[in-house]
Amino acid sequence: MVYGKEHKIILQTVMNEGALLENRVNELIMKLFDHNNTTKILREINAKLQPLYMTIKCINCEVTGQLYWIFVNTVEDKTTSLQSEFSQAELSLLRSVFSEIVTSNSHCISSTFCLNLCSSLNQKLTKTSAEEFLHEMVIRKWLCSKGGKYYMGVRSIAELLQYFKDTYEEKFKICSLCKQELLYGQKCNNCNAVTHIHCLENCTRTDGLGCPSCHQPMPELSHNQSDYANCTMDVDIENVLQEVEMTEFSQVKG
Ligand SMILES: [Zn+2]
Ligand SMILES: [Zn+2]
Repeated sequence: MVYGKEHKIILQTVMNEGALLENRVNELIMKLFDHNNTTKILREINAKLQPLYMTIKCINCEVTGQLYWIFVNTVEDKTTSLQSEFSQAELSLLRSVFSEIVTSNSHCISSTFCLNLCSSLNQKLTKTSAEEFLHEMVIRKWLCSKGGKYYMGVRSIAELLQYFKDTYEEKFKICSLCKQELLYGQKCNNCNAVTHIHCLENCTRTDGLGCPSCHQPMPELSHNQSDYANCTMDVDIENVLQEVEMTEFSQVKG
């Protein structure tokens, strides 16, 4: 099939959302093309985008395991799209948050810690505006929020991985299966190999091996697909955790 109106609708949706969940892509392709050959559609759209230095990347969120289609500009400064929309202060905060996430050992930081970064910015940003801004970054998948903590979002991994790699090279581990850099994965207690959870799940589903490196049984996966499905709807639990954290913080401070 030639590139047509249906392809444009899919491209437009991915561009509007920035990151489109696999399920929604499948639904859309089924509706528009009446088949489920997503690989073929992706190839056709990317062939059209290539001369324009743009592409759609298919990438798993390392935290939730969910697969996303992400619209990526292959030449420009990757955060250009944010620059027209957000203030200098907000973007400085985002940079600080990224840097703290990559350099911290667990690659996640508490929301309280994030908000406290405001005081170290050159530009003024109130905690309320910062909170709203960070929430927006979670919706747009630049950040991922879980249990009152911020993680690197799938879109940042898709668009900024090269930058992060160049800047903080020693902070990345390599997935024992796909051999790509990872921030979040399952560690084997026996040989210390680290593996993306989605890679591990795909692998154990087919051959039931333990650790891909030493084949010893692995600890229980830290999350599973059913958890991911609820990830974004889990707002209540998240709010409660955040509140607990805030209270603890103010007690320490007081
Ligand atoms: Zn992997
Ligand atoms: Zn192992």
